[in-house]
Amino acid sequence: MALTPSVTLFAYTPNPERVVATAMRQSRYKGNVKEIDLSEEDIKRLINLALNLRHMSVFEHISFSFAIEGISRACSHQFVRHRFFSFTQQSQRYVKFDQPLFITPPTVLNSLEALKIYNNLMDEILDTYKKLLSIGVPEEDARFVLPNATETKIVATANARELMHFFKLRMDKHAQWEIRKLADLMFEHVSAVAPNIFNKDNIKYFE
Ligand SMILES: Cc1cc2nc3c(=O)[nH]c(=O)nc-3n(C[C@H](O)[C@H](O)[C@H](O)COP(=O)(O)OP(=O)(O)OC[C@H]3O[C@@H](n4cnc5c(N)ncnc54)[C@H](O)[C@@H]3O)c2cc1C
Repeated sequence: MALTPSVTLFAYTPNPERVVATAMRQSRYKGNVKEIDLSEEDIKRLINLALNLRHMSVFEHISFSFAIEGISRACSHQFVRHRFFSFTQQSQRYVKFDQPLFITPPTVLNSLEALKIYNNLMDEILDTYKKLLSIGVPEEDARFVLPNATETKIVATANARELMHFFKLRMDKHAQWEIRKLADLMFEHVSAVAPNIFNKDNIKYFE
């Protein structure tokens, strides 16, 4: 079966929407943040106000950490261009891959001819990688033969403002299929825990 991106949201700021709304309220409130007591209705209203006014700093107070696997090195290379994320990627120097996994693009999967050519090359690469290791070449050098298709695992953390920017660019139809799939999955996770911020109607505000 073909490998596809898999995303786990394994940590995030508790009560994320309340944190954002409290910051928004503080910006217009004379007193102390500890006196701010918001209803669910207030939270929704303050989030909408922040988005409408492009008062974007309030979204920087909450962050989300994702464990991602089943993506190619081509995809992770696109992902790590987003500079306000923090990343930790599985090392090809320290991890010995007895059987590195390769991602297969749908256009290849959907053509028997393309799939045969593709798999032949992946088998040859795998064979070469293992041969180099077996004659004493260290992992950090043997990995030079591994392709963009090689599967990787990466932990990524970002605040909500950076996530909005990432979603704006990478859920767009111009983004490549793999990072678009990744962005869609990440969006599903954050919209489950912060639905007043991350919903499809709000994408027009993301910048
Ligand atoms: C469809 C598509 C095609 C692409 N094709 C290519 C390609 O062919 N080649 C290629 O190299 N890249 C390509 N990219 C990557 C793109 O150029 C960006 O590097 C990537 O999308 C990260 O975007 P960003 O810099 O806006 O985001 P982030 O790094 O997340 O930054 C967020 C925002 O912070 C601000 N910012 C961050 N750093 C600076 C800075 N140093 N100076 C000023 N403002 C800053 C900007 O407003 C930026 O939008 C492509 C991206 C997309 C979506």
